[in-house]
Formats: sequence, structure tokens, C-alpha cells
Amino acid sequence: MKKIGVITSGGDAPGMNAAVRGVVRAALAREVQVVGFLHGYRGIISEEIVDLQSPSVGGIISQGGTMLRTARSPEFREKAGREQAVQVLRENEVDGLVVIGGDGSLTGARALHEEFDYPVMGVPGSIDNDIAGTDFSIGFDTAVNTALEAIDKIRDTAYSHERVFVVEVMGRANGFIALEVALSGGAEAVLIPEIPFSLLEICDNLRKARSRGKRSSVIVVAEGAARARDVKDFVQKNTGFEARESVLGHMQRGGSPTSFDRVLALRLGAIAANRLISGFRGEMVGVDGGKLVHHPLSYVLSTERNIDPDKLLLVEVMAQ
Ligand code: ADP
Repeated sequence: MKKIGVITSGGDAPGMNAAVRGVVRAALAREVQVVGFLHGYRGIISEEIVDLQSPSVGGIISQGGTMLRTARSPEFREKAGREQAVQVLRENEVDGLVVIGGDGSLTGARALHEEFDYPVMGVPGSIDNDIAGTDFSIGFDTAVNTALEAIDKIRDTAYSHERVFVVEVMGRANGFIALEVALSGGAEAVLIPEIPFSLLEICDNLRKARSRGKRSSVIVVAEGAARARDVKDFVQKNTGFEARESVLGHMQRGGSPTSFDRVLALRLGAIAANRLISGFRGEMVGVDGGKLVHHPLSYVLSTERNIDPDKLLLVEVMAQ
């Protein structure tokens, strides 16, 4: 391979820049040129191409977001759009593509591989951490730490005013972020979309906690499980305790990546470039127990990543 391309696509995640840096510098070390396309698949179709030299990725390791920008591309979901994309890649003599993104972006990458035999390598970038085949996807650790910082602050005010706080964190389809911050933030309860919950039971536990002398509580809610406002209203009505809600929202996507995410992203970016250049294709790279691994995209995209029920149980036990 003489030249490879890289995109960031779908939902942005802190650490995507470090992954781009990993791709670019690892490829250049093997004397392979790198180009980036702006705005994910959309920018391939519209030929928004930029040359990436070593200085192009200098100073970005600490920055959240993505210098290559990201977007969603409805055109690319259609075969005609993908045909156009492959044509642009081939016309620009781009011999392979590293796709950094979530499961939607990886599904797009698999289509390029399966429909056009075009060499692709996927890198899991998603704050949701819902991608199979890797213990962590890029951005999850930073998003969890951002949410945790907010929850720690909220707990201070919850304690002072002796209130129940319901904190809504990101996670439309899954509760990975919610569960992690519920544990690390010492929450009294967590609501996630995967597991049915009983608000009556939670209210009962809050009352029991109050009778043990606990004057304030934090309930973490994944956005896909319930709306914080509804939970707050229910708790207030049912227990008579003063309650407030806080929706953390998009702040969880931004910010400087943690050391963990930077190292993860650099390693994944570099191994993705190296494997692509070495002739592997149609894979996603990931980590398993700290070691770098790779899996066919077909496996990754047909496998579900489930929450650890022991962690859920631990939240309950720790709240006693
Ligand atoms: P994420 O990568 O964060 O999951 P999306 O699901 O929005 O984000 O996907 C990002 C982009 O990937 C979409 O805008 C689309 O261009 C492409 N994509 C998603 N799903 C498919 C699909 N089934 N086939 C082809 N391309 C897809």
C-alpha cells in the first residue's frame, strides 16, 4: 500500500484525535502516505480530502472532538452512495481506509469491504462502549469521568440540602456509562434500559436509607431508561422527600481525553494502520484484558455487548 485514508464518523468521542494521530504516525513510519476525509463518509463522497503529514497531527492528542470533523451521511446508507465513495477512494489512489466510529460507522465499513472488496479497518470510537470485540471503545473512559465529576459536585449540594438528586447520563440503548458512574459515584440506585426496574422499590429503599440516617441520595438514570424529570416527580410524590433532577447532556461528549483514552486511541489507531498496510482487511481492532486484538467486522456487528449483572448488583449492595 502506498496511501491510506482515515475518517472519523458518526457520534464524536474524546480520543478520536489521538486515534487519528496513531494512524498517521504509524503509517508514515512505514513510508505510507495518509489522507483524511472531512465529515466522515459524507466527505469521501464529496471529496473533502486533506493531506496528513506528521505535523498535521501535532498538538491534537489533548483535544476532545475530532479535527477531521464528523457527520452522518444518509447518502452512504444507499448502495449508490457507497459506489460513489469507492470511486472517489480509487480515483485518489487511496488503497485502504481506517474508519474510526461507532457501530453505524463500522457497519458502513463492512459494506465497503463486502460489497466492493475495498480494504477497511475499523477502530471502535464511541462514548457508549456498546461495541462487541473490545473491552473499551475510545471516549468511554473520558465520558464516564466527565459525568462522575458532575455527580460528585451534585452530591455535595444533595448532601447540604438533604435532597434526592436524579442525574440523567447518556445511553439511549444501553447503561454502560450509567452503571460505571453509579458505582464510582456511590449512587443509591441506577436505572438502565437493559434491565426492568421498579420505582416503587427504589422509593422504598430511599425511605429505608432515610430511616438509617442517610439524608441525601443520588439516582443515576441512563437517558434510554427513563427521563430524569419523571423519576424525580415520582420519587417526590411517593416519598415526600425533596428531589431535583439534572440532565448532563452533551457535556459528556466533549473535553480533553483522559490518559486512558489517549493511550487506547493511539494504540488502536497505530495497530489499525499497521494491519491495513500489512494486508489485513474487514476487521476491527480492540483490546481484551489490556492486549490488542482484532476481529472480523462481521463478528463484531453480529455480537451484542452486554452489561455485567454483577456490577448492577454491586450498586444495590453498596447502597445498603
Ligand atoms: P455511529 O458510528 O456513532 O454509530 P451512526 O449510526 O450515525 O453513528 O453511523 C454513522 C454513519 O455510518 C451513517 O451516517 C452512515 O453514513 C453510516 N452507516 C450507518 N449505518 C449504516 C448501514 N447500515 N449501511 C451503510 N452505512 C451505514
